[in-house]
Amino acid sequence: MSKVGFIGLGIMGKPMAKNLVKAGYDLIVYDIVDAAVKELGEAGAQTAASIAEVAQAADVIVTMLPNSPHVKEVVLGAGGVLENAKEGTIVVDMSSISPIASQEIAAECSKKGVTLLDAPVSGGEPKAIDGTLAIMVGGDEAAFKKVEEMLLKMGSSAVLVGGIGSGNVTKLANQIIVALNIAAMSEAMVLATKNGVDPEKVYNAIRGGLAGSTVLDAKMPMVLSGNFNPGFRIELHIKDLQNALDCAHAVNSPIPLTAEVMEIMQALKVAGMEKNDHDAIIRHYEKLAGV
Ligand code: NAD
Repeated sequence: MSKVGFIGLGIMGKPMAKNLVKAGYDLIVYDIVDAAVKELGEAGAQTAASIAEVAQAADVIVTMLPNSPHVKEVVLGAGGVLENAKEGTIVVDMSSISPIASQEIAAECSKKGVTLLDAPVSGGEPKAIDGTLAIMVGGDEAAFKKVEEMLLKMGSSAVLVGGIGSGNVTKLANQIIVALNIAAMSEAMVLATKNGVDPEKVYNAIRGGLAGSTVLDAKMPMVLSGNFNPGFRIELHIKDLQNALDCAHAVNSPIPLTAEVMEIMQALKVAGMEKNDHDAIIRHYEKLAGV
């Protein structure tokens, strides 16, 4: 792999790109935010002034963008990756987007001999910095094998789960499980409070039992200390749950509990709390119960 392009240097992309530079990859980077590009330049990457410049130079291109429309614009848009990439280029989209969009983008790419892998991640900014993300990949196995070593510089695991789109289906499963866990935790803890039982004692009593979970251990200490700073913003989780609902409706697979938690998140958005961490779901329950 002679040159790697990296497009999208936000909360997640910036530390992921830095880890590739640290691992010795010859990186060329671009973002619409000049300051982010400059920071990567100072970290040792080659900087580009456009997507076209990245696409012309790189054999493998990583994208880490907010949602489906951004990835479509960057890969398929005028002056984008596909217009400028060499035949044989592998695009590794690590954004969390709709699996349907991944399949649509991949189909356009294949017409020009470019292979798309969808490779979203879980673990948030701390694991992006540590290079210990969980990476879930969909797409062609031969292309996956070519980029697997690079992915393992950003994550502690990279699992090929199936064909194109299956990485993002896996990410939607992850986001459903996390959202419903936080809602269940919130419902239970407000019930305890209303019964005069200290939620911290409830947490300590149950965390070693069947209700214990990574989500409980990550979110309960935040809730107990009144920390609602992201972390993972409610607005991004709404994006993921909307993608989950669209995907579920497309294949006639009802996801009623996801729809319920989506409405709780929408209510928090209406209340102006969309920039809070998703642990702020407990605020909704407190309001319902008059806590
Ligand atoms: P972010 O908003 O911080 O970063 C996105 C970056 O993309 C920004 O720097 C933005 O300037 C850039 N960008 C947007 N349009 C562009 C364009 N046309 N050309 C070039 N650059 C462009 O978002 P983030 O938190 O880094 O998340 C990125 C993705 O990873 C999202 O899909 C998110 O859901 C997912 N994710 C985030 C977390 C988290 O904890 N933040 C965890 C796991 C997965």
